[in-house]
Amino acid sequence: MRILIISDIHASLTALEAVLARAGDVDGIWCLGDLVGYGPDPNECISRLHDRNNFSCIMGNHDAAAMELIDTQSFNLEARRAIEITQHTLSDASRAYLSSLPEKLTFGQVTLSHGSPRHPVWEYLLDAHTALINFDYFKTDFCFVGHTHLPVQYSLYDGWDTVKLSVPRPEQVISLGPRAILNPGSVGQPRDRDPRASYAIFDPEMNTWTNHRVVYDISSVQERMETLGMPARHIQRLAAGW
Ligand code: ZN
Repeated sequence: MRILIISDIHASLTALEAVLARAGDVDGIWCLGDLVGYGPDPNECISRLHDRNNFSCIMGNHDAAAMELIDTQSFNLEARRAIEITQHTLSDASRAYLSSLPEKLTFGQVTLSHGSPRHPVWEYLLDAHTALINFDYFKTDFCFVGHTHLPVQYSLYDGWDTVKLSVPRPEQVISLGPRAILNPGSVGQPRDRDPRASYAIFDPEMNTWTNHRVVYDISSVQERMETLGMPARHIQRLAAGW
């Protein structure tokens, strides 16, 4: 069984199409939030995914900001500018879809939340200590998160009360267990200095996780961002993967 795990698409249809093409036939697609924000194609990304019957998605902080569900004062100036452009671009159908997104979902032994199980929309899981605390906030074996745009695995060792942080190598098949928090990285705005789109394939029968990277036409996304008047720093960072 193959479940495609994607996160932080950030309105980049070109990156999304590259991921869908490389992933091929899958039994489900789970998206960990931030469908929109930063990128030029919010409506196209939503309509490409939302009517697939095996697609599930939760709300990210940029989705919530685009819908004015959270205060954008905590975003920096450039991020706020990008959010305003997104707000002007979103169709009514896209707004309805984003409004319908839950903060958390559970499928079998997996919890999905954008930032962390403790604070689904906002918290960044960037270190083993914060991850250790968060293992108390979900009951399933695994929790999949996005938000940091960094592929990572936090493994909890039974009885050790210790979390090990590891960065999966692309194409490396990882056997999960007994409990882990995993991040597939970002489709539309990777921040680990590898500009290729990032995603993962999860097999819930074998409990395996494989991170993948795929090249996409970054310059075509940058051109559309320029046309929309997106901040220069957001345009440039795509090519550097940060
Ligand atoms: Zn994001």
